[in-house]
Amino acid sequence: MIKYTLQCENHHQFDSWFASSDAFDKLKSSNLLACEVCGSNSISKSLMAPSVKPKTDKMVKEPFPQLKLKEDSLIKELRKSVEKNCDYVGDKFAEEARAIHDGNSPERSIYGNATLKQAKSLSEDGIPIAPLPWYYIKSN
Ligand SMILES: [Zn+2]
Repeated sequence: MIKYTLQCENHHQFDSWFASSDAFDKLKSSNLLACEVCGSNSISKSLMAPSVKPKTDKMVKEPFPQLKLKEDSLIKELRKSVEKNCDYVGDKFAEEARAIHDGNSPERSIYGNATLKQAKSLSEDGIPIAPLPWYYIKSN
């Protein structure tokens, strides 16, 4: 049995048990999953890690390749949405984030590269930033 935390299009979250990852996919594709709060059929797994009740030792040792794949596709979705809706500013990220915060640059969503030091300094100054799962912070 696998427990998934599910989320509907209206961001309601609820937990549900499934026999397997395939069972979840089958129920979803037959529109048999509905949000417990609003009844929406638009359900997806939330990004949280599922709790798993292993049946055998073998299951404990093996990671869940199917789950890994699903997470990758969620990350791809997120990436698509960020690239569509945000301005890419490359290495100027820290500079630009500060300029927007200070009102010196038009307010918008941006993404780009920052060093760990820059990221730390931005968040210390109360500028909201979030690491994206597909970019690596530079080490210097
Ligand atoms: Zn809902």
